[in-house]
Amino acid sequence: MHPDVKKLLEVQKVDQSIAKIQRDLDSIPRERAKREAALDAVRRRHDELTAALRQAEVDARSNDTSIRQSDDEIKKLETRLNGVRNNAEYQATLLQIGSVRQERGRLEEAGLTLLEKIESMRAELATAKTAFDEAQRVFADFVREGEAFLAKRRLDLEKVSVGREALTAGIPPDLMGRYAKMFGARDSLSVCAVEGATCTGCYTTIPPNLVVKLQAGTSVVICNTCQRILYIPE
Ligand SMILES: [Zn+2]
Repeated sequence: MHPDVKKLLEVQKVDQSIAKIQRDLDSIPRERAKREAALDAVRRRHDELTAALRQAEVDARSNDTSIRQSDDEIKKLETRLNGVRNNAEYQATLLQIGSVRQERGRLEEAGLTLLEKIESMRAELATAKTAFDEAQRVFADFVREGEAFLAKRRLDLEKVSVGREALTAGIPPDLMGRYAKMFGARDSLSVCAVEGATCTGCYTTIPPNLVVKLQAGTSVVICNTCQRILYIPE
């Protein structure tokens, strides 16, 4: 094997470990954002139900006030009825009382509908609150575990990165550049083995003249198809 390729293979092992750790480091914040958005949706549902229930309770109280006002109005009209001086006024007052009673009946019905609505809203809110509490608990667990995992992976990253610099010593910069470019472009596999006469990176057959070059180990051989740096395992 060409000595520079041998070195690159060692560098690649380190870089693959680094890439794996980096994927973990990237995945946790992404997952956290996703979960946070889901938690926000559960929170919004809970808050909306809370606000709607409050509004319904305000409506019910205002409806009760209207019923009491109707009662007062009826009492006032009945008192007036005792003091009327002629039949026309008596009939008019009776009509007025009838109309206020009718309105009071309508309000009472509306009040009952509101109470039923409030009852079902309370049940719905209780369910939403349970879901929200549970979602908050699960999210807090995730954050705690995620942070512990990130701390561990950051330590792993420090550990595996130690000595990488030394491994690259003596590798020509243009080869190093090609390696780095292909490592990024070819899914963390820049230096790859040839098995039989097949590139294990792209599974195409390597021409015999390149196989001979590889066997000689005197020059760096690139796959014509995937541009990876090739080697024959020793
Ligand atoms: Zn290839």
